[in-house]
Amino acid sequence: MLGRGLIKGLAETARNLLGSYAVKGRLTTVAYPEERLPQQPGARVFPFLVYDGPDPMKGLRCVACQICEKECPPQCIYIIKDMIKKPDASGRMQFQPKVFDIDTSVCMSCQICVEVCPFDAIEMDVEYELSTADRFEGLLQHKEQLAKPNAYFHQIHPLQADAVDARLDAEHAKAQAKHATLPDSSANSTGTVALGTRPTKA
Ligand code: SF4
Ligand code: SF4
Repeated sequence: MLGRGLIKGLAETARNLLGSYAVKGRLTTVAYPEERLPQQPGARVFPFLVYDGPDPMKGLRCVACQICEKECPPQCIYIIKDMIKKPDASGRMQFQPKVFDIDTSVCMSCQICVEVCPFDAIEMDVEYELSTADRFEGLLQHKEQLAKPNAYFHQIHPLQADAVDARLDAEHAKAQAKHATLPDSSANSTGTVALGTRPTKA
């Protein structure tokens, strides 16, 4: 019969509309922005940079290797490497990005930057309320905005963050054991302890 599918669709909508007054499960929408649905564990919006310890800039895990910049399909990551090594959150001398920008007006949330990063320095955020009237500078995220603590990563993706912590702890323990076997292993030429304690997530 012509229009049968249309009638079936309208009947389903009517059933949900009337049923939502009696059964909460039939209410499929919320009154946003006063109400929000809980985020799903697999949700991903745009990337952010993870840092360890209390200082967002000093504690960045990113060593400015620029792999993500090269692999990003729409080329929306822009990095300038700081050519002077500085101590990271565990006291190890590392390169860091002087500039790390992501143009979220171009980013397509593919997560390739996360997959290719060898240092677990970049992860996908679940924050989606980023609307702005300025479509250029307003959508360009700088490293100061992109830097978020490891505790935040645990909050939004707990299983993934636990797995990353376990891997980094194992790598750090292995490096410490290797470092302990070297002669005069207590300090490097700058006097900075080469392998300190890996900061906890808190
Ligand atoms: S986020 Fe990872 S891949 Fe990108 S520059 Fe930093 S360390 Fe390299
Ligand atoms: S999520 Fe994809 S598009 Fe966005 S910055 Fe990462 S690699 Fe580029």
